[in-house]
Amino acid sequence: MTEISKLREDICVLAKSMLDRGLTCESSGNISARLSDGTVLVTPTGRAMGFLDPAQISHLDQNFKLLSGDPPTKETPLHAAFYETRSGTGAVVHLHSTYSVTLSMLPETDPDNVLPPLTPYTIMRVGKVKLLPFFLPGDPGMGDAVRGLAGKRSAVLLANHGPVVAGKDVWAAAFAMEELEETAKLAMLTRGMNPTPLTEAHVQAVVKKFDVDW
Ligand SMILES: [Zn+2]
Repeated sequence: MTEISKLREDICVLAKSMLDRGLTCESSGNISARLSDGTVLVTPTGRAMGFLDPAQISHLDQNFKLLSGDPPTKETPLHAAFYETRSGTGAVVHLHSTYSVTLSMLPETDPDNVLPPLTPYTIMRVGKVKLLPFFLPGDPGMGDAVRGLAGKRSAVLLANHGPVVAGKDVWAAAFAMEELEETAKLAMLTRGMNPTPLTEAHVQAVVKKFDVDW
């Protein structure tokens, strides 16, 4: 199987898996992945996440212009900003996952580090997650806001919208997205219960042991 065929199939498998587990709904969420020649596959606009056909996935050139397949998601500029500012980016996943969106709307959420340190796994996989402002759907300003971070963050949370996570490949990006959403879920489930978070010493030990950008 060629690299591009395998990647098309992986994107469809992951999209359906995330849908089946309630991480996104049929009409929202998008996934992109970069091929070794620098071109990019991205999920098409207006297609259901659980019924993606590998042949419909949009194939874009290195400047994110359509080469073949259906028209790409309107959120392509958001994906492009990660590829442009983080050289190790092999894939980007964006969802409208419920608990992360909830966290984005709460006044006590720290905009520089939205997830409380409840478990080590999100720290290991995504580092600090930055809260970005609300943008209208499809606004290229979302990409500009990501570029404004100068490649320092692998994950952001768009206010009243959802998280965006970059990873070295499509599996790493999907796994990191799941950890982000699970920690947001834990934060919501334990809200008002006075949970014991990791100490700052624990956080720093995780950062050091797993060489996290922090
Ligand atoms: Zn979105």
